[in-house]
Amino acid sequence: MRLSGHTALQIREKLLSREIQASDLVGQLFKWIKDIEPNVQAFITTCEKEALEKAVEIDKKIINRQKVGLLAGIPIAVKDNICTKNLTTTCASKILQNFIPPYDAFVVKRLKEEDAIIIGKTNLDEFAMGSSTENSGYKITRNPWNHECVPGGSSGGSAAAVAADFSFLALGSDTGGSVRQPAALCGVVGIKPTYGRVSRYGLIAFGSSLDQIGTFTKDVKDAALLLQVIAGYDSYDSTSAQVSVPDYLQRIESGVKGLRIGIPKEYFAGGLNTEVGVAVKDALKLYEKLGATVVDISLPHTEYAVAVYYIVANAEASSNLARYDGVKYGYRTGESRGIIDMYCRTRSEGFGNEVKRRIMLGNYALSSGYYDAYYMKASKVRNLIKSDFDAAFEKVDCIMCPTSPVPAFKIGERANNPLEMYLSDIYTIPANLAGIPGISIPCGFSKTGLPIGMQILAKHFEEKKILQIAYAFERETDFHLKKPALKGSTG
Ligand code: GLN
Repeated sequence: MRLSGHTALQIREKLLSREIQASDLVGQLFKWIKDIEPNVQAFITTCEKEALEKAVEIDKKIINRQKVGLLAGIPIAVKDNICTKNLTTTCASKILQNFIPPYDAFVVKRLKEEDAIIIGKTNLDEFAMGSSTENSGYKITRNPWNHECVPGGSSGGSAAAVAADFSFLALGSDTGGSVRQPAALCGVVGIKPTYGRVSRYGLIAFGSSLDQIGTFTKDVKDAALLLQVIAGYDSYDSTSAQVSVPDYLQRIESGVKGLRIGIPKEYFAGGLNTEVGVAVKDALKLYEKLGATVVDISLPHTEYAVAVYYIVANAEASSNLARYDGVKYGYRTGESRGIIDMYCRTRSEGFGNEVKRRIMLGNYALSSGYYDAYYMKASKVRNLIKSDFDAAFEKVDCIMCPTSPVPAFKIGERANNPLEMYLSDIYTIPANLAGIPGISIPCGFSKTGLPIGMQILAKHFEEKKILQIAYAFERETDFHLKKPALKGSTG
């Protein structure tokens, strides 16, 4: 197997036992990326030179038997809405095309402290607004399993990078499903941690009461490893929780005997693709075989989740994006007549259509006279959605459901129909509204060979439980081991 086909934990062993060197690994990886990336387009920026320098530094440490971090020598890709010091961070927007952050996000600082090697910044829907990565201001990322299909979004570049073996690990952000949905569509593992579990310091804000940084990995153990590194309290994020971080890998093999799994009937209703439904139900049968009990539950306010989300997220986005005015940083229009004209032109030229649509909707929902009718009402229904979960978790230990109603769709298929695009996240959005953690793991393939993902949700701060449950399935199946057949640009 190519080295790039291994998991992060396997690579770590090889590096620490000196079977391989980080510099060789990074060299090989970039050769692979150069060959395959033209057909996938996962990255906005790559940083080969810096990655090689870091690799040489880590090789030296290992040879000299110096202490190294948890991710020593392991290449990782970072979504381009997470700030990296001295490395362009664009949010896939023209308005930030030349933005070079003077500081590292909390999670990036943690990666560096643990000796990970950042290999590049991945493509996304502009400001993380979208479900297909087609809204990027720069390029469309293609699904490694079928280049005519989308990788999902908004963290499509990170999901594709892991699925195509460009990177062992990747970071993304999830405001309404942007880690879990692309993970499902690309056949990799994606976690959205509890709101407050991972600091958002340095994550460029979209919907601040929903945003959370999450992980993409090839399997569940790697997810535990990466979450271990990025989780924890940070005084620079006022929403960061002072809750201790457990050892996520410890007892990950404990199994699911006696576990009660809730199946929400609302998540298996109309709109669910048959093949996805069958794959998830087969997975549930396996869980029963492993000793879990399946319990039918109801989350009655699910039908309002998408509407509530698009009021809350857009309202918060309209306020967060007000800072891009051409004055402080980022793009500024060439010529203008006065300051107001400069603002208008800068924002008209710098933002793409979807971002403009959301700023307008958000401002409308917050405007005087409409605030009560929309934002206030949405906030109240949001509480009902959260109460649905609280009530369900009285009866069950976790909830299982599909991650996305459909496997990867064709590029262009939903691009001109925002409403249809918004429905891509119908199963992921409720977890963000409630702030609870969720994971998506591979659980099957469609007849046309596209990956299918299943979602596991639990109470706040129960990431460890979610990982144990996910691992119980993964060790009995081989969906996560299948690889897309990738051909280089030269044939
Ligand atoms: N697809 C959703 C949206 O467009 C969620 C995006 C996200 O999680 N960043 O808002």
